[in-house]
Amino acid sequence: MMNGSFYVDDHPTRFGGFKREYSKSDFVLFGVPFDSTSSYRPGSRFGPAAIREASANIETWSWRTGIDFEEIKLHDLGDLAVVHGDVAETVRRVKETVEDIILSKKIPVMVGGEHIITLGALRGLRDSTVVSFDAHFDMRDDYLSNKLSHACVMRRALEEFGVKNVVIVGARATYKDEIEYIKKNDVSYITSHQIMRVGPKETGAWIKEILSGSKRVYISVDMDVLDPAYAPGVGNPEPEGISTSALLDVIGEIIDERVSGFDVVEVAPTYDSGTTAVTASKVIYEICCMIAKSIGL
Ligand code: MN
Ligand code: MN
Repeated sequence: MMNGSFYVDDHPTRFGGFKREYSKSDFVLFGVPFDSTSSYRPGSRFGPAAIREASANIETWSWRTGIDFEEIKLHDLGDLAVVHGDVAETVRRVKETVEDIILSKKIPVMVGGEHIITLGALRGLRDSTVVSFDAHFDMRDDYLSNKLSHACVMRRALEEFGVKNVVIVGARATYKDEIEYIKKNDVSYITSHQIMRVGPKETGAWIKEILSGSKRVYISVDMDVLDPAYAPGVGNPEPEGISTSALLDVIGEIIDERVSGFDVVEVAPTYDSGTTAVTASKVIYEICCMIAKSIGL
C-alpha cells in the first residue's frame, strides 16, 4: 500500500501512543517536517515529532463528543520524506499521499510543518472547500519572491479552486495590499475580534452558511490562530487571538459528514516548553472524535 518510498517510518512514538494497522483504520495521520519558507522563526519541521510525543502523554477522553480517542481507528504513517528547500516537490508528495489515502477511503490527518503543505492536500482532494483557521490570510501574491511560501498558500488555493472554496477564520494580521486583494475578490473571512464578540455558535452558523453549497470541506488549523498565550510555539505569533476552547467550539459547530480531512500546522516547538504541541495534540484528538461522531465511525 501507499507510496512507501516517500516515508520515513521509524518514529519511536506513534501518534496517541499506539499503532493500528492501515487496513483497519478510518484516519491516516502523517507528518510533514518541512519549514523551508519560514520567514520569521523557523522550526516547524520539529512540529510532528513534538506533537507525537505530547499526544502520547495526554488523556484521551473527549468531553465534547463522549468518545475516547483510544477508540478512534487512526494509523500513523510516519513522516513524509521532504526535500528541504524544494517546496514544489514537497507539495507534490503531499498531494500524492493524500490521493492515496482517499483512494483507500480513509480520512487524511496532516501534521506540519509550515502552512504551504495545505496546498498539496487540497490538490490531492480536488473537491474541498478549505476553512483556514489562521491569524493570517496567507494571501500574498508572493513572499520574498516565492509564490509557494506559507504566506501565499490561501492565495494559491483561491486561484486554483475559486473564491467560493476558501474561508478564513480568526484572521487579524494583514497589510494594505492584502486587504485590497481580499476586498476586491470578495473573500469570505471572519476576524478574531468578531469571533470574540459574537461567540462560537454564531461564528459556526456564519461559516455553515458559506459552506452550504460545498460538496466537501477541509479544515486547516494554523496554530497561530490561537492567542500566543495559548500557543506561543509558532512561527509567526500574533496578539489578540482566540482561545483553544473557542477554536474547538467553532470547529464543533461546522463539522459534518462532508469533512474530507484536516491538518494542524505551524507548531514550532523550540519557542515554548511544550504547551503548543500539547494543544495541537488535543486539537487533533477532538477533531478526530468530532468527525467520528458525525459520520458514525
Ligand atoms: Mn498560515
Ligand atoms: Mn498564520
